[in-house]
Amino acid sequence: MAMNLMLMGLPGAGKGTQAEKIVDEYKIPHISTGDIFRAAIKNQTPMGIEAKKYIDKGELVPDEVTNGIVKERLAQDDVKDGFLLDGFPRNMAQAQALEEIGAQLGKPLAGVINIHVDPESLMERLTGRYICRDCGATYHKVFNPTKEEGTCDRCGGHEFYQREDDKPETVKNRLDVNIKMNTPLLDFYAQKGILNEVNGNQDIDKVFADVKAILDNLK
Ligand code: ADP
Ligand code: AMP
Repeated sequence: MAMNLMLMGLPGAGKGTQAEKIVDEYKIPHISTGDIFRAAIKNQTPMGIEAKKYIDKGELVPDEVTNGIVKERLAQDDVKDGFLLDGFPRNMAQAQALEEIGAQLGKPLAGVINIHVDPESLMERLTGRYICRDCGATYHKVFNPTKEEGTCDRCGGHEFYQREDDKPETVKNRLDVNIKMNTPLLDFYAQKGILNEVNGNQDIDKVFADVKAILDNLK
């Protein structure tokens, strides 16, 4: 079966961190709507300029925009053997849109992994996050620093940045917005029988071992 996968979890749960490992192991493209928006903002495309208004406030970008991006991305050639969605869908309307896109393209979701982390830890994770400017690898000041200070483990880059929306003022609203939407989504995928829960309150490598056990079972 094609590895058509989706990673769920509140902001800071570790989706990006696990996605890096999953795509290295299973050789499927990582599709993060957040990354797509950040690239569009950097390039100042019309879509990026529009999305930035919402992202800076910690709000969701409107569904029409986000669904359109995913539909276009899933129609590309490189996802024929699988893909890893990260950060989409974020609400029920998007989940319904994904059902339709999956049916149209013959690419239904095969598995969903929800990384559960106690909400109290998320603020600390998000405000300590930093990212390599060259390759996008994610680190944390305390929990996951680069092995050599100032050098990216993944690409050797030396420039890092903090996300605009990881400032404490925005983080609080992002968490509120996402917590509200999360439960119906979990129920939806549980009912479809494709939801897998992983305990995200563990070391990064232990979380990945649990993820791998689930995915090896799906293959
Ligand atoms: P998401 O993509 O779900 O928003 P990230 O993967 O960017 O989350 O992780 C958020 C922050 O928490 C990053 O700074 C990352 O290094 C750190 N992190 C990720 N997984 C863990 C973990 N299991 N334990 C501690 N910190 C983690
Ligand atoms: P992320 O990188 O997943 O934390 O996303 C960063 C921001 O991009 C979010 O706070 C939203 O503003 C926007 N975003 C990402 N994915 C979606 C989505 N599926 N629907 C709406 N907005 C999104």
